[in-house]
Amino acid sequence: MHKIIQEAKLLLPELIQFRRTLHQYPEIGFDLVKSKTELIKRLESKNLSWEEFEGSIVVKLGNGGNSALLLRSELDALPMNEESGLPFSSKTPNRAHCCGHDMNAAILLGALILLKKHNIKGPVVGLFQAAEEIGEGAKRLMDADFLNKFNIVSGISMHVNAKLSLGKLGYGKGKMFASNTSFDVVIHGKGSHGARPFEGKDPINIAVQIYNVLNSIVAREVNVFKHNIFSVTSINAGDAYNVIPETVIMKCSLRTYDEESRKYLENRFWEVLKGMESVFDVKIEYTIHSFVPSLVATPDFVDNLLDLAKKIIPLDQIDSQPAIKYGSEDFAFIAKHLKQIASMSIGAGPDKSTPYLYGQHNSKVLFNEEAILYGCALQSWWAMNISEEM
Ligand SMILES: [Zn+2]
Repeated sequence: MHKIIQEAKLLLPELIQFRRTLHQYPEIGFDLVKSKTELIKRLESKNLSWEEFEGSIVVKLGNGGNSALLLRSELDALPMNEESGLPFSSKTPNRAHCCGHDMNAAILLGALILLKKHNIKGPVVGLFQAAEEIGEGAKRLMDADFLNKFNIVSGISMHVNAKLSLGKLGYGKGKMFASNTSFDVVIHGKGSHGARPFEGKDPINIAVQIYNVLNSIVAREVNVFKHNIFSVTSINAGDAYNVIPETVIMKCSLRTYDEESRKYLENRFWEVLKGMESVFDVKIEYTIHSFVPSLVATPDFVDNLLDLAKKIIPLDQIDSQPAIKYGSEDFAFIAKHLKQIASMSIGAGPDKSTPYLYGQHNSKVLFNEEAILYGCALQSWWAMNISEEM
């Protein structure tokens, strides 16, 4: 067993204790009072100096050179109930660590403790990020010039994965997470009796036309190899059998890896909605609800991390992930401005050959806490070897 794995193993009991404390008291968004207090207590007991930056906790280590490597974890939970049956389950209704950010935070804490112990020259920046699940934490950091403030040029984000067998390192090169433009369309028609539609301006009829035209544009005007996905995920209107409502609200999501298609489609959607206004003589509002950019991992950088990983974990523990996923990840706000990016997963399945039945964001999800030791050994090993090359 490699020395760094042995060192991580010694830390495991205290990291598990930290993880379980976070797990029992999950908090969401930027409201992370208890989680931050527990984290800060442990950082201070290890002489790790920290600062609070735009709602997140940042730890900076080493002062060799100007270009820092970022190690990023999250700290926030989800607004849902936990049904894991664990003795240390969430004590707060409608709050649960079902994405495993408690595990990710314990991994990063362990990595920072090891880096401090090894007197890393660095510089390395550890980020315990707030508000990942609501897609606002990374954006707020970037709005406050986070990268320049800490001279960060490259970054590794690592997430536990209950569906990956224990200790497996999952990686992707190139396109990993799509951009996501979520937008609302509000059609202001004119309500009428269901028996006299000709006296109103039926917004449901207009919503149906819009649904079809927007989908046709994606299917017929952009190259299928650009990987664009469009979904209308909610259409809300009316509640009676004999009343045509005044208004329809549609919620939509456009996911892509290609900036050019994104801009093209957003413009075309806008044109269609403007056109529908004049065709049906109604008012249509179109507002962007949120936007997350795509995340593209740097192949050379990932290769470098894999070569290093092979020195401390067996080859069969390294697992390529599906090349293209359509989910989004708010680390993309940060990654977009970095020279080198990697987004890795660490397997937290029940053993070295099986995944758990339930995945992240499921109320019954479980994570094997032994994953913490592999995650923290890898992160500290990477940082020790890479930060001095930069
Ligand atoms: Zn997550």
